[in-house]
Amino acid sequence: LQEVARRLLGVLRESDTISRPGGDEFVVMLEEIGPDRVTAAAMAQSVSRKTLAELSRPYVLRGREYTGSASVGMVLFRGHEDAADELLQHAGMAMYAVKCSGRGVARFFDPHIQAMLERRAAVEAQIRKAVELNQLRLYFQPCVDREGRIVAAEALLRWFHPERGLVPPGDFIPVCEDNGLIVPVGRWVLEAACAQLQRWEAERETRDLRLSVNISVKQFRHDGFVAQVLGAVGESGIDPSRLELELTEGVFLDDTELSIAKMRVLRGAGVLFSLDDFGTGYSSLAYLKKLPLNQIKIDQSFVRDIAVDAGDEVIAQTIIKMGQSLGLEVVAEGVETEEQRRRLERYGCEHYQGYLFGPPMPVQEFEDAVAAGTADSL
Ligand code: C2E
Ligand code: MG
Ligand code: MG
Repeated sequence: LQEVARRLLGVLRESDTISRPGGDEFVVMLEEIGPDRVTAAAMAQSVSRKTLAELSRPYVLRGREYTGSASVGMVLFRGHEDAADELLQHAGMAMYAVKCSGRGVARFFDPHIQAMLERRAAVEAQIRKAVELNQLRLYFQPCVDREGRIVAAEALLRWFHPERGLVPPGDFIPVCEDNGLIVPVGRWVLEAACAQLQRWEAERETRDLRLSVNISVKQFRHDGFVAQVLGAVGESGIDPSRLELELTEGVFLDDTELSIAKMRVLRGAGVLFSLDDFGTGYSSLAYLKKLPLNQIKIDQSFVRDIAVDAGDEVIAQTIIKMGQSLGLEVVAEGVETEEQRRRLERYGCEHYQGYLFGPPMPVQEFEDAVAAGTADSL
């Protein structure tokens, strides 16, 4: 029991609480483990995994080795809506369910939470395989200038799942961000994008194209990120100023100085930066002039209602003006109608992206559109 207590202390934080109500049962209380139920449940599960791993190591007592097994039952609570004895009872019921079904695992009392975590684990396993089995593809969406000429592309990730079909990034990138898979998936995207740029550099029609890649906050924060980008650029031998990394304002919410330092290193190596979904974050404008940016992208939510909502019209106009006075290229995202394009043009916008000029498409289709001269002929 003393050794179990020691091991439990080893996996918990200073602020967690641990007690032994009796027998071979311990109660652990984890506080402040997430802003919502999903994050909290995932965090509790991760702590329970560490706990189970620790408790299953052999115990050496008076020179002899013993092994033990443990069962974990979990319950989530928020504030004071549940009575303490009821919570303990539920956790106990979940623990007995584990004991009866063979020990060595952790379960939640709430079957919905348990099912949700199991789905997540299944998706996680499938994403790991997706990289190995070559199920990931890049699609390319044209970015055009005022004359409708394709000057750049945005690489957008697609997952071709054997049963689910084409899975959009919104369905699996958030999962990747939670479980750390964003690092290998992001590396795959960077390498695939650089390989594409290398092929484009070899052809007259495509050699001037820039390609932008979306970088998630967790990927950017990862220690190996700068090395990852420099590695992908170096190995492909591309001109680094053809590669543009799209960041979101979330990157600058904490650790702003470190983020800027990372950007400076990459900018020094020639890589360009774009600020995606501009106008949707909560960050201040003060940092904007400190960042080594090349481009900002007006979020599609402002473009969508530009012709009907005076507020959105003013916001779009202001972003364009501000971008221009800071010497940045401004791209309007999600342009779907000629009316939207005309208004944006009138405000001085010079680059556009959206279904009006072409959706994200496989590389062959994209190259055909470039060869056809303008994206309008799609
Ligand atoms: P985003 O970077 O803002 O990409 C623009 C999204 O808007 C794309 O959705 C694109 O298909 C969609 N879109 C383009 N034109 C129009 C239009 O005219 N109307 C409307 N309604 N939508 C338009 P998609 O491909 O589903 O990607 C969604 C988000 O997923 C992206 O938003 C980006 O944040 C993320 N994402 C995509 N690929 C990657 C990737 O390789 N890595 C990371 N970290 N995130 C990615
Ligand atoms: Mg983007
Ligand atoms: Mg965007």
